[in-house]
Amino acid sequence: MNSNAPRTSVDTLIIGAGITGLSAGYHLTKQGEHVIILEAEARVGGAVGSVMEAQWLRELGPNSLMQTQALAQLLSDLDLSAEIIEANPVAKKRFVAKNGHPVALPTNPLELLTTPLFNLGDLFHLAREPWIKPAKTEESIAEFVRRRLGTGFLDWAVDPFVSGVYAGDPKLLSVQAAIPKIYAMEQENGSLIRGGIARMKAAKANPAPITQPAKGKLLSFKRGLQTLTDALAQAITASGCGEIRLQSQSTRITPNADQTWQIHTEQGEQFSCKNLILTVPAAVAARLLAPIDAPLAEHLNQIEYPPVASVVMGFDRDKVAHPLDGFGLLIPSKEHKQTLGVLFSSTLFPDRTPQGKVMLTAFIGGRQKPQAAEGTDDEILMRVLRDLSPLLGIQGQPEFLRIQPWPRAIPQYELGHLSLIEKIDARVAHFSNLHLAGNWRAGIAVGDCLINGENLAKKMPRVDR
Ligand SMILES: Cc1cc2nc3c(=O)[nH]c(=O)nc-3n(C[C@H](O)[C@H](O)[C@H](O)COP(=O)(O)OP(=O)(O)OC[C@H]3O[C@@H](n4cnc5c(N)ncnc54)[C@H](O)[C@@H]3O)c2cc1C
Repeated sequence: MNSNAPRTSVDTLIIGAGITGLSAGYHLTKQGEHVIILEAEARVGGAVGSVMEAQWLRELGPNSLMQTQALAQLLSDLDLSAEIIEANPVAKKRFVAKNGHPVALPTNPLELLTTPLFNLGDLFHLAREPWIKPAKTEESIAEFVRRRLGTGFLDWAVDPFVSGVYAGDPKLLSVQAAIPKIYAMEQENGSLIRGGIARMKAAKANPAPITQPAKGKLLSFKRGLQTLTDALAQAITASGCGEIRLQSQSTRITPNADQTWQIHTEQGEQFSCKNLILTVPAAVAARLLAPIDAPLAEHLNQIEYPPVASVVMGFDRDKVAHPLDGFGLLIPSKEHKQTLGVLFSSTLFPDRTPQGKVMLTAFIGGRQKPQAAEGTDDEILMRVLRDLSPLLGIQGQPEFLRIQPWPRAIPQYELGHLSLIEKIDARVAHFSNLHLAGNWRAGIAVGDCLINGENLAKKMPRVDR
């Protein structure tokens, strides 16, 4: 390491230029704070990344964003409105595999009564839901759903949903931490059905102004989701008070006696700052913090991150028999496959493939079958095709194939997660001007990370210069 490396002093230093770090950096520089962001990789975005190759536009991690009022405001501030593309309306239809066949999830009460996904017993259980009392202790998603909605809804609707969002295990995920809005519905309305009706009534009584974007729509950008992270990075550097250092991997942080921080990087640089924000995965934060607070590192290391591989496959349209008329297909654990699900990517956002081709993005691995994400590309592809070829009528091998491994993909908000976060916060409070953020604490969706970065920036103490 070069001990003569230049020192750089700044108000706020952020480690990690994923969506959380970029959001915090964007809002801080908007407030006029001086910020440096250190990023280990050669590009910003973290899990968000889009690649265009020979007319195939693929996503490395997330594929879409949920529209919200806050996101619409941000996109307008970043001047990205003209870049937005909305998901194909047919993507409202979602398939779940049952007994080796794709079955569309019901979207209205009549379909609910006639779908082969649920039996009469499941429907009777559902009818009793408004009279089932809320639980008084923390439950897993599996316990919560089995109690309120019954085993059929757990197996054929919630289990695949949990795979699709968290690549998680419903028996381990905490309902309170992982799906807080659903938990709040039970606590506030005593029932999910009553809560749903109350929400619909409230929306009818106070309709959103037509100038507001429709909530719940899925969107992306003409050149993929990376448009958003690139635009945030561009706005930070254009602000005149923000700087992003790529290929700057933080290896050591130390608190100084005057309540400032010292940061060292693998590349031999040193920085000092008043406020230090870590937006790296929990295990990386643990590594950085272990020398100064071993119990804090131990708590952070308890957050599980199972591996997932994202498998992008391109085929001639006539090599896939299924009409691909929906968002994608989720595979419940009961089907005993290794693949978690597959997005019909070229239906979701058309014009991302050469003419006459279709693109599928499968996800394999996760908390219940981590070993399925391991091995060579050939081995991973073989597992995916063994599961998907009979379900979707795929003939032969893909003509375009890219596999993106995520060795630590998505943090799992498992039983005890909220008390773990409390313990982490209590230890962090012993240090002056240290802040921990990232997708392991207040929502894993890109939209959650944007909001969390913004909230952190708003509550940061201003630095007197
Ligand atoms: C396969 C996959 C599919 C997903 N699909 C969706 C989806 O469809 N919709 C959705 O809303 N969300 C989805 N998500 C979740 C979402 O993408 C993530 O939760 C979110 O992007 C995480 O952002 P972050 O900034 O908190 O963390 P990260 O993106 O992990 O960013 C952390 C950054 O820190 C950097 N870093 C690490 N160590 C160091 C170090 N020592 N020094 C400096 N920098 C360091 C990393 O390189 C990285 O850039 C998906 C995630 C994955 C993996």
